[in-house]
Amino acid sequence: MNLTIIGTGYVGLVSGACFAEMGNTVTCIDIDEKKIDGLRNGIIPIYEPGLETMVKRNVSNKTLYFSTNLKNHLEKCDIAFIAVGTPMGEDGSADLKYVLQVAKEIGQHMHNNLIIVDKSTVPVGTADKVKAAIQKELDHRNEPMDFHVVSNPEFLKEGDAINDFMKPDRVVVGSDNEEATEKMRALYAPFFRSSMDRLITMDVRSAEMTKYVANAMLATKISFMNEIANICELVGADVNKVRIGIGSDSRIGYSFIYPGSGYGGSCFPKDVKALKKTAEENGYTAELISAVENVNDKQKLVIANKIIQRFGEDLTNKTFSIWGLAFKPETDDMREAPSIYIIKELVKRGAKIHAYDPKATEEAQHFYLKDTKNITYFDSKYKTLQNSDAMILLTEWKEFRSPDFEELKKQLKQPIIFDGRNQYNHARMLKNGFEYYQIGKK
Ligand code: NAD
Repeated sequence: MNLTIIGTGYVGLVSGACFAEMGNTVTCIDIDEKKIDGLRNGIIPIYEPGLETMVKRNVSNKTLYFSTNLKNHLEKCDIAFIAVGTPMGEDGSADLKYVLQVAKEIGQHMHNNLIIVDKSTVPVGTADKVKAAIQKELDHRNEPMDFHVVSNPEFLKEGDAINDFMKPDRVVVGSDNEEATEKMRALYAPFFRSSMDRLITMDVRSAEMTKYVANAMLATKISFMNEIANICELVGADVNKVRIGIGSDSRIGYSFIYPGSGYGGSCFPKDVKALKKTAEENGYTAELISAVENVNDKQKLVIANKIIQRFGEDLTNKTFSIWGLAFKPETDDMREAPSIYIIKELVKRGAKIHAYDPKATEEAQHFYLKDTKNITYFDSKYKTLQNSDAMILLTEWKEFRSPDFEELKKQLKQPIIFDGRNQYNHARMLKNGFEYYQIGKK
């Protein structure tokens, strides 16, 4: 098929590359000329394992193209995907300005029988708004045309996005038109080799809702376990043991019950807030969802509070070595990363920061921590340790899992570690002579 993907970010670029990999001809569109120029010259704007190889392969196979011109690429297109950002609006709802701008442009330039797919995460009712925005332009053109708006929310996770897209747990298609559903089924068929059971079709509103509910459920598991971790500390229990104790129950399972420094990223914080807002707009107070959010806000500062408890409120002559800035491993994404909040708390009290992340340093330096003083960035985890009063682990990159602890002891002023991701064995760390702080264990 001929596909146009509008919005070449994490979702648009990964989707475009994966659809091209399956033999479709794909054009990824973006308004960011620098991004498109770079992609045309083989520069991949984000770090995502496997993405660069896949993009380059499909560009050289002439199955993947990049452009800033939507108009030219709607002509031969079978399906147009909207994959632009839906950031958090001022009141917590999803800001649809990019989605509706794209809908308007589609309406201005589309041809007959186009399928428009909402891949961005959008609140229930957005497909209707997209449809209306397109129809308005068609009325203006005075050219009646057949088109269908389908909801196909994306469930990929950054850091493992290619794998998730190529071998999805499920693909959700919300559509009110059988022909459009069939076309989506045909598009996704190569991703399901043996059975199409994992392509789940439903009405548009339920599909839009499914994405928010999936993210809210995962965020709930995280906040629940973080709350339990905080109680464990108070009563002298070890959350690491409790986690194994409950995860072994098949009704509960082990996934998403790791305590830590709270969830971040571009999705959970804004999607949880948007779902709460949707409920509110419909006269319902979403108490559990509000609690998930409140617990997370507090959790982001648990490690900072432990540091302040240990070193005091005045951190003027203290230097901390930070291992990990990205909101999770295998990505350079810094959006809503707990590291931002923790570093700001420490800097506010006068601390100096030595920071290292395998991939996210540039993002941190140029955007998210741009205006934060007292940070020096290093290109190796060990280099951050010199003259530092403690090491603080904030992202569980594989290279942090089994470091040379003797080197840590040698370089740090005192062997102190604050572990915001519970990566090390508590008893072993104490035996090795470290003062070691975790989440959920006193
Ligand atoms: P992103 O910010 O990385 O990319 C969005 C892109 O859209 C940007 O490159 C921007 O320049 C472009 N854009 C904005 N307006 C445009 C326009 N009028 N025409 C063309 N391009 C335009 O965003 P993302 O992380 O890829 O997320 C996109 C959507 O997918 C969001 O709704 C998000 O919630 C959802 N989502 C994201 C993830 C994830 O892990 N990042 C996972 C699932 C769903």
